[in-house]
Amino acid sequence: MKQSHIERYLAKGIQTLRHEDPELFDILEREHERQSESLSLIASSGGTDASVLATVGATIVNVTAEGYPGKRYHAGCRFVDMAEQLAIDRAKKVFGAQYVNVQPHCASFANHTVMQSLLSPGDTILGMSLDQGGHLTHGSPANLSGKLYKAVGYGLDSKGLIDYGQLREQALAHRPKLIICGTTSYSRVIDFDRIRAVADEVGAYVLADITHIAGLVAAGVHPSPINAAHFTTTCTFKQLFGPRGALILIGRDAESKGPDGSKTLSQIIQSAVFPLMQGSPEVHTIAAKARAMGRLLEPSFRELAHRIKSNAATLAHELQLRGYEVIGGGTDNHIVLFRLPAGLNGEVATRALEHCGILVNKNKIPGDFRGAATASGLRLGSNTASLRGMGKEQMHLAIELIDTVLRHTRSDQGGFELDESLRHQVNGSVRELCRAYPMPYDALPQRHGDAIESHQAEEVALAR
Ligand SMILES: *Cc1c(COP(=O)(O)O)cnc(C)c1O
Repeated sequence: MKQSHIERYLAKGIQTLRHEDPELFDILEREHERQSESLSLIASSGGTDASVLATVGATIVNVTAEGYPGKRYHAGCRFVDMAEQLAIDRAKKVFGAQYVNVQPHCASFANHTVMQSLLSPGDTILGMSLDQGGHLTHGSPANLSGKLYKAVGYGLDSKGLIDYGQLREQALAHRPKLIICGTTSYSRVIDFDRIRAVADEVGAYVLADITHIAGLVAAGVHPSPINAAHFTTTCTFKQLFGPRGALILIGRDAESKGPDGSKTLSQIIQSAVFPLMQGSPEVHTIAAKARAMGRLLEPSFRELAHRIKSNAATLAHELQLRGYEVIGGGTDNHIVLFRLPAGLNGEVATRALEHCGILVNKNKIPGDFRGAATASGLRLGSNTASLRGMGKEQMHLAIELIDTVLRHTRSDQGGFELDESLRHQVNGSVRELCRAYPMPYDALPQRHGDAIESHQAEEVALAR
């Protein structure tokens, strides 16, 4: 087959980088190796395949395209219009949405955009507090959302479950214009219908930020908020395995009237993304979102979503078998949050594990006496390991390794102490595991007739 333009310049680009800027080339190459050889159990990590990466690097990036398909302010937008429309159509199909805006640069911007489209400074918003598992953009005092609006919060009960009673009490007491749900460290199912019922009671809109669970929602493995919430936002790089960027989606309320009664909700979002909040869209990223949505529509993604969920369940179960307290009693998604043994804080544990090639993050647990910088818990996630084709056996091994490291780590005046031979041993196991289950872009195409396990075959198919 004749080499395409894209293949030629991508290859040339890599060669040029290598020869003209070896310093940067080396950084990129080493980062790639780091990803390949470490076991990422970071809940917010995903992973792109080679086709998404290539799309992000396409020459379509050169087009300035303010506006929307068919309504641009510049000439030369024929193909970016087609790419954006493809991303919109596929995203609608993936999530069963009536309206999608594919231009938001990131989920934080998407959330700010929804707020700007509805609210005036000083209006009240009700979101999950940051230290209970909400996101910065859900009204944290450190974020614009907490400075521009009067933010009130809700949180978890003593069992670590969303306190819907408190949410309703806060809504009745403060009469927010917007209720925000969606979390960063919650491992159980979110009852979006229940939150909508509270919103209807007080006349509020609902924003569901499903950044963390968007893949499970897309695959039908977690209830969808598309029709329960007025607005749904998600980033495209965590569980959707696409490029950095975000989506704003609306379901059955797309044609409902906005706050002033003159425009529909989809109209106010359309003009809030551009021109209110953003300028020209990242057209290459939008093209890559189209590619990512295309992958989500493949039957193999449904299998991946199921594996993400079952792998997280295995992580939680194995931790419990070893005596660790799993917050919320288990998991319904990709997240597992657990309490560290006494004497070990999250900062020390995270660093000790990274030293051994295992990536996790420290996280506060309900009622934590430690601050976020140290924290008493660790948060694990199964997205990236599942993308690599790992299954139950590998999750069992992961917990065995984590348990070994935690049991042998001693806090030592701000640092930690860990036996060097033990570190070596765990590192070796991690490297072996990672080589057996490569990232999709590192997986070699299987030769015909090779006996391979079905989940690996599927990953290879995804990688092509
Ligand atoms: C990660 C995350 C975000 C932020 O996403 P960006 O695209 O990095 O801005 C927003 N909301 C939630 C719930 C998240 O987990």
